[in-house]
Amino acid sequence: MIYMDYHATTPVDPEVVAAMLPYFSEKFGNAASRQYRLGWDAQEAVEQARSEVAALIGAEAKDIVWTSGATEANNLALKGLAEVTMPARDHFVTVVTEHKSVLDTCKRLEKQGRSTTVLAVSGDGSIDLDILRGAVTERTAAVSVMAANNEIGVLAPLAEIAAIAHARGALLHTDAVQAAGKVPLNVAASGVDLASFTAHKLYGPKGVGALYVRRKSPRVTLAPMLDGGGHERGMRSGTLNVPGIVGFGAAAALAGRCMAVESARLRQLRDRLLEGLKTRVGDLMVNGSLTTRLPGNLNVSFPGVDGEALLVSLSDDVALSSGAACTAAEPSHVLKALGRRTELALASLRFGLGRWTTLQEVDAVAARVSDEVMRLRAMSPV
Ligand SMILES: *Cc1c(COP(=O)(O)O)cnc(C)c1O
Repeated sequence: MIYMDYHATTPVDPEVVAAMLPYFSEKFGNAASRQYRLGWDAQEAVEQARSEVAALIGAEAKDIVWTSGATEANNLALKGLAEVTMPARDHFVTVVTEHKSVLDTCKRLEKQGRSTTVLAVSGDGSIDLDILRGAVTERTAAVSVMAANNEIGVLAPLAEIAAIAHARGALLHTDAVQAAGKVPLNVAASGVDLASFTAHKLYGPKGVGALYVRRKSPRVTLAPMLDGGGHERGMRSGTLNVPGIVGFGAAAALAGRCMAVESARLRQLRDRLLEGLKTRVGDLMVNGSLTTRLPGNLNVSFPGVDGEALLVSLSDDVALSSGAACTAAEPSHVLKALGRRTELALASLRFGLGRWTTLQEVDAVAARVSDEVMRLRAMSPV
């Protein structure tokens, strides 16, 4: 089985597993227990991880709030902000290609009386900054735009978006899950105010994430979603997942060290995969810009192919998807937003290359997928 779905999740790096192991049974203390060594050790480990995650994204350690993942971080960022900015600012701006944890959070806010503007994208997946400028008003609490798209890998110009939001006194939230550890990201330099992360997309464990919350110019405040012991500057109560957090820290440190070499290698493999597919199947369409894009992402539509049949026939030897894991079987809302018709959106594959993807795997997948596409095309009446 060849794994080529690194946008859905990633295996935990062995170095990360090793860093986590002592925190399950030997150093099992509660990071909030301040009276004895076991608690201090846990707290120290959590604070080291906080510095490591902060360093990866150009933040200060104190700006990091631990969560259970990016779904929670996105919910906390938008709902937590909506609660404190009412009634003066009751409007949110986001983009049609966002992850469901942002889009559905915005829908919830709308049900609760806020208004939202969901921007369209152009054919290459980018947003029109003039249209964005026109959508942000004096009532906008935040603009939420993802740093890198999880289906088509398209990157957003965060600094320019931040400037547009700030000009009207709105904040910028970014779902930076797919960008973190893959492309350089600096929340301070880009003017990002809130940013969501999850460990399992960068070779860390599942069930742990973080929200970056700017503490200076401006100081961002959020209402908590979980009330309780007042952990995490009161923004997220609950006993910390110490092994998970240690793993997130180790994964962030490792990603920071590997990023330049890894992204150059993945970009080459990705380009080779595209070439391999193109030369064999001829007619294909790349979804999303090829220049402003994550190095390990490729998303391709194959005209004249039954997408369902394609995935089924590949499922025994290649782990691939047609889009986000949570919404498989429906046509991707991202591809539809690029203007792809339903049949074409369904006849699309997202290739996610990662740390353990080899050249042999890329060649094997290009050949295997092409064979299937040609076989299905030969069978198809159209
Ligand atoms: C995976 C993903 C999420 C959700 O993260 P979880 O930690 O699994 O909740 C959110 N946004 C994007 C862009 C993702 O790829």
